[in-house]
Amino acid sequence: MRTIEHWIGGAPARGTGTRTAPVWNPATGEQAAQVLLASPSDVDTAVAGARKAATEWAQASLSRRSKLMFALRDLLERYETDLARIITAEHGKVLEDARGEVVRGREVVEFACGIAHLLKGGYSDQVSANVDSYSFRQPLGVVAGITPFNFPAMVPLWMHPVAIACGNAFVLKPSERDPSASVFVAQLYADAGLPDGVFNVVHGDKEAVDAILDHPDIAAVSFVGSTPIARYVHQRGSQVGKRVQALGGAKNHAVVLPDADLDHAAEQLTAAAYGSAGQRCMAVSAVVAVGAAADPLVAKLKERAEAITVGPGSDPASQMGPVVTEQARQRIRTATTGGVEAGATLVVDGRDRTVEDHPDGFYLGPSLFDRVSAEMEVYREELFGPVLVVLRADTEQQAIELVNANPYGNGTALFTSSGEAARRFQREVTVGMIGINVPIPVPMAYYSFGGWKASLFGDTHVHGPEGVAFYTRAKVVTARWPHHADPAQQAQLHFPTAH
Ligand code: NAD
Repeated sequence: MRTIEHWIGGAPARGTGTRTAPVWNPATGEQAAQVLLASPSDVDTAVAGARKAATEWAQASLSRRSKLMFALRDLLERYETDLARIITAEHGKVLEDARGEVVRGREVVEFACGIAHLLKGGYSDQVSANVDSYSFRQPLGVVAGITPFNFPAMVPLWMHPVAIACGNAFVLKPSERDPSASVFVAQLYADAGLPDGVFNVVHGDKEAVDAILDHPDIAAVSFVGSTPIARYVHQRGSQVGKRVQALGGAKNHAVVLPDADLDHAAEQLTAAAYGSAGQRCMAVSAVVAVGAAADPLVAKLKERAEAITVGPGSDPASQMGPVVTEQARQRIRTATTGGVEAGATLVVDGRDRTVEDHPDGFYLGPSLFDRVSAEMEVYREELFGPVLVVLRADTEQQAIELVNANPYGNGTALFTSSGEAARRFQREVTVGMIGINVPIPVPMAYYSFGGWKASLFGDTHVHGPEGVAFYTRAKVVTARWPHHADPAQQAQLHFPTAH
């Protein structure tokens, strides 16, 4: 059985932890490897090395850091297919989808290539007589990332290129369900010339997470995962004085108005609901069909959902791969059955879909519900699987109220041909990322990514300008080069004011 090791101090490491977790191939249902689970002492070893490396790395010139990012960017392009294959093998998503996540992650590295520009401070000449004032930002030291299974390359890439370009060392605790992508990226960093110890990977579960949250030498934690764990990470990390940004779960609504191009909407919504088997934090999982849009939209969604080819992610003919584990499959099946029992209309039933030659793979077909109400569990819970629910509303205003009453606020989309309706929607929804006729409005790397309400705990979103602010702290200098001949510069005992 292959064993997936940590990456500490610039090399693979076995650590001292004795526990392991299985890593599955979701397409076949077979165990593909085992991953080491870090003990608190393994976390401590990684942090001790990172701390030493961070001291030196913080002295690296901006041009050296930027050159490093350019080199990493080129390697991520050269090895795009290799990394995508690793993702598909452990996550299950189809290869083109995996390639897409590598590309979107690489865009953050491209953003970080401009670190010299991003870290420019401000300068004010003559704020008082012969006094100038200027600001600059410095790295925090050692920072950590804790990431979910659903984007094993892209979500960590939201974090570490920005943190490292800002002059920090990084300790990544990726999902134990698909850990290999992070080790591959660690090797690319080494090949790009990053000094040992600046980027580390420790695999693990709650034990490693708690060791990170409690570690006195980790200054900040970025977390992405489900809402209960995000809330926990934010509370425990903040309690000991760390900076924490913790992105949580989602229930993303797409509102479809009767004036929308319904073919376009159905096409886009099918891709957004069932792509990656619905295991995206920005997946559309609830459609709010307004007025006369409902009947024709449901018919078009049905037709498209039934036409989706389900199969192994490595097969180019597959449009949708398996879900990540057998446990996830059972959970999604049970929730779907719950929707039927609650009285929703199951228009397309994907619960028992099988794939030829892969009887043990963790497959589900797409499921589509109509006439779902806001009280039903199938709407209230984040199912994180290929299940799309349709709710009906009479007006755009009612639809907006539904979106805003939901505890999550990650992403939402409006389908319409009315600029006026779009403007009202984008101003009134209590959601962080909004699409207008765009179903998955993931911001480009030079904007920041983050939701509202139960989708994010903390003050800053990830990557983009807010990422740079998160991984640095500011200094403001007020400076005078005294020359005593000037009577205006005589010290006074009262509080200094500009003159
Ligand atoms: P998860 O919360 O189970 O795991 C996330 C991380 O937390 C993993 O590294 C895991 O090892 C760790 N973890 C799990 N249980 C823990 C515990 N009890 N104590 C401490 N740490 C623990 O999430 P997941 O199933 O890997 O990913 C899916 C979830 O992530 C969904 O809810 C999805 O919406 C969310 N997600 C959100 C975003 C976003 O940007 N808001 C992006 C991707 C995924």
